[in-house]
Amino acid sequence: MDNSSGDHQINNFKDFGFDKSVMEGLDSIGFEIPTPIQKQIIPHIMQGCDVIGCAQTGTGKTAAYLLPVLHRIINHPVKGVNTIIISPTRELAIQIAQALEGLSYFVNLSSMAVYGGTDGMEWEQQKRALSQGVDIVVATPGKLISFLNMDIIPVSQLQHLVLDEADRMLDMGFVDDIMKIISYLPENRSTFLFSATMPSRIRELSRKILKNPVEVNIAVSKPAAGILQAAYLTHDSQKLQLLAKLIRDRDLPSILIFASTKSKVKTITRELLSAGFQVADIHSDLEQTEREKVLLRFRTRNLQILIATDVLSRGIDIENISLVVNYDVPHDAEDYVHRVGRTARAEQSGIAITFVNETDMFRFSKIEKLIENEIIKLMPPPEMGPGPEYNPKSSGPVHFHKRNVRKK
Ligand code: AMP
Repeated sequence: MDNSSGDHQINNFKDFGFDKSVMEGLDSIGFEIPTPIQKQIIPHIMQGCDVIGCAQTGTGKTAAYLLPVLHRIINHPVKGVNTIIISPTRELAIQIAQALEGLSYFVNLSSMAVYGGTDGMEWEQQKRALSQGVDIVVATPGKLISFLNMDIIPVSQLQHLVLDEADRMLDMGFVDDIMKIISYLPENRSTFLFSATMPSRIRELSRKILKNPVEVNIAVSKPAAGILQAAYLTHDSQKLQLLAKLIRDRDLPSILIFASTKSKVKTITRELLSAGFQVADIHSDLEQTEREKVLLRFRTRNLQILIATDVLSRGIDIENISLVVNYDVPHDAEDYVHRVGRTARAEQSGIAITFVNETDMFRFSKIEKLIENEIIKLMPPPEMGPGPEYNPKSSGPVHFHKRNVRKK
């Protein structure tokens, strides 16, 4: 069922009828006006309907489910775990847990984030806390299954299941894990599924696990308005020099660079460091604690430039990035939207620049088609010599890579 009329008469957070403690959380965080997805989805979740939310990060989808879930928990407390939120990555789980902490600051409830990469002592602590029952569990699938297999989480009265970034979970091979998790949960619950894209596999999953869902679509596959997008036509040999020039000329406070492979990330980092820039990288070779430390430095503006593989391209909420650079054209067109979505969050403006070499031109034209927008093509400055001529037809056909299944 499609429903996009759920937002009539909703102009303000107080129109939802949230509990006072939820309103206090909103006040302290400073959210004043609901975003479009919040206007459309919140009334349905308040009523306990199953919901499919088709929305990318940056639209306010996290608060769209957290706020009504908090309200419902206050009004229908249960014994044991009330809500499980499943996230494909640790980074997104941490980010959801942080949003939850802020929004629920004045609400009397307990929550716990459960994700991989924790040590034995933490595992024991989590086990103890979970067995006593917390209201909200935010978890990655693998870790959650281990606890469910041990039969220590009291889920028999569970009210809500949230699947965040469901498309990402399927891409990462978590479908069996999700079905296994669901086999532990009571049928009489509300399920909310969020996904940036709606491929047929997501529809199939929804048919299996949701009941008469209301579907809300928010501008899928289009970067938020306010992002200035441009492409440089470059040979690979020109990319490093061009990147250094872009950074030097603009002197922006917060720059995020994505490259296709770990080894490229390391090379770019090395080169920029030796050119005197303040830069760090983040990829799957790093331990969880190191990743968090780097992210924190970047978030708090103690690090100007962060270089990442696509680990960061979805789900992570770092605000106010002034410039995103795709050092390579993303393999997956939807990833472009997600990467560019790191900038211009919540209606601020940002710049997104993509380097396009001769073999990536066809793939880039696919992205333009997807976002229904022709992106301006620029040549490198004359002192670097000419870039390749733009000819998207000659570089195809493209073999789109299956997105990498990330090592856990
Ligand atoms: P999300 O799509 O959930 O990752 O949210 C994107 C960003 O928008 C986050 O930084 C949120 O804190 C922020 N945000 C969410 N809802 C609102 C709102 N109603 N007003 C202002 N900012 C918001």
